[in-house]
Amino acid sequence: MADRSTRSPVRNPRTPAQELLDELGPVTQFHDTTHLGAFGMPSGAMTEDMLSSVATAGTPTRFGPLEKVHAFWFAGMSCDGCSVAVTGATLPSVESLLLGAHPGLPRVVLHHPVINMESGPYYLQPAEQAMAGRLDAPYVVILEGSIADEVVANASGGYWSSTGEEPWGPDGDLRPVTSTEWVARLAPNAAAMIAIGTCATWGGVPSAEGNPTGAMSLMDFLGKDYRSVLGVPVVNVPGCPPIGDNFTETVAAVLYFLQGFGPLPEFDELGRPAWLFGETVHRHCVRGAYYEEGQFAKDFGDPECLVEIGCWGPVVNCNIASRGAIMSVGGCMNAGGACIGCTMPGFPDKFTPFYKRPPGSMASTVVSRMVGSVIRPLRKFSNNNMNREVRWDRQHATPSAFSREKSEPSALAHVNHKFYDALRRSGDTSRNDADVWGKRQDEAPSGGSPRTRA
Ligand code: SF4
Ligand code: SF4
Repeated sequence: MADRSTRSPVRNPRTPAQELLDELGPVTQFHDTTHLGAFGMPSGAMTEDMLSSVATAGTPTRFGPLEKVHAFWFAGMSCDGCSVAVTGATLPSVESLLLGAHPGLPRVVLHHPVINMESGPYYLQPAEQAMAGRLDAPYVVILEGSIADEVVANASGGYWSSTGEEPWGPDGDLRPVTSTEWVARLAPNAAAMIAIGTCATWGGVPSAEGNPTGAMSLMDFLGKDYRSVLGVPVVNVPGCPPIGDNFTETVAAVLYFLQGFGPLPEFDELGRPAWLFGETVHRHCVRGAYYEEGQFAKDFGDPECLVEIGCWGPVVNCNIASRGAIMSVGGCMNAGGACIGCTMPGFPDKFTPFYKRPPGSMASTVVSRMVGSVIRPLRKFSNNNMNREVRWDRQHATPSAFSREKSEPSALAHVNHKFYDALRRSGDTSRNDADVWGKRQDEAPSGGSPRTRA
């Protein structure tokens, strides 16, 4: 058996997709559904037919040329976590996309192996029509899970992951059709190819060291020269699982492009939505200030920065700290978890063993500790002062029963705060004395003379 995991795209100019299609040859025959009758569950209840009557994308709300777009969802070497994540999306939700509830967006007709009502040949029919060029609208292909190298499996007469059967065997016999094959056959005429989750975008866990299935990403499979019929390279929305909203928002953005409403949204050099993956997760982390002040968690459950117990956030492109996991809530550090780099092309091999301090963090945490040892006391000093009313400073008393055990600021602290106030107000042209209304003699504004109107 050839070792597919080490195949070099430089030495081999043919893409794995081309190799697979060369080996399998063209197909022309499809299921004949005329004799199937009541096959399927429930028979004849096509998901698209059921939804189209309640879908709102029609002429009144549709501004572009497309009334609908088909989305074929395939699962390769997958745990289905991406499907779970996407069904939890709310901004926008899958339901709203299926119902065409967004003004200007075409309605999405989703063909998903778990969600759809159809089964068997009825489920496969739209994909067959897409291959034959008979589909009634453009289509995009969405891949969850990595691409297994089916050329390897084929050599031993097996397969890694399949989606249904087609009469593509010898003499028109039914044979399992792998997800890899579907993707290879549908890619040339797709309006866009979208990889969801780290397995599909970069290979992910199935392509980790060892990799018996030769698992690879959609980009590796189709090659760097791949372009959809609209000239779009593979779009990548990574994460393990990805944030559902990241995916549905990207799909909506691509659909607006397909509808002719604007240019293709900005993607980075790896096909990631640039507005979602342009920053490290560390920059928006709720624990970032602990890092800055040199305070680090020793155990999970501690509130401080998690870098010393294995957080890779400073070098990982991810937006979960600001976006949250579901409905803007949760997300790794928000919920107490260290970043293990699950959105990154180097995941998992370059981040293992998990929950071990990244060696590169040593230098920055030493510096943070040194800076923090100076900054923290100064901030505490100012924080104490800002927690006092101006009146309490004047009266040297705080009328709170809760704080009675807390002593008033020392004379030295008082002088230091005065000095700080002078610095703060230097150049402030509004500090001149002003008339004081309704105050007692001893309650003039800070910096002003205790005067009252005659
Ligand atoms: S927990 Fe991680 S991402 Fe958050 S501040 Fe610490 S190192 Fe950065
Ligand atoms: S913070 Fe890290 S582990 Fe969490 S989702 Fe983002 S990349 Fe993955």
